[in-house]
Amino acid sequence: MVLRKVLALFEDKCPVCDDRLQAVSNAACCTKACPQGHYKEESYCTLGVTIVYDELK
Ligand SMILES: [Zn+2]
Repeated sequence: MVLRKVLALFEDKCPVCDDRLQAVSNAACCTKACPQGHYKEESYCTLGVTIVYDELK
């Protein structure tokens, strides 16, 4: 399942294991992912949206 939510609601920790997300950013988007693969989110600043991949839990 893919959820879209506003950028203001983003999380900095994995909702599954509460580990700190690893962030990688470039000109197009900023990606944050759990180092253990539970959670991933992509923030597109130019579009003002964040796409969250939480089906991995
Ligand atoms: Zn995790």
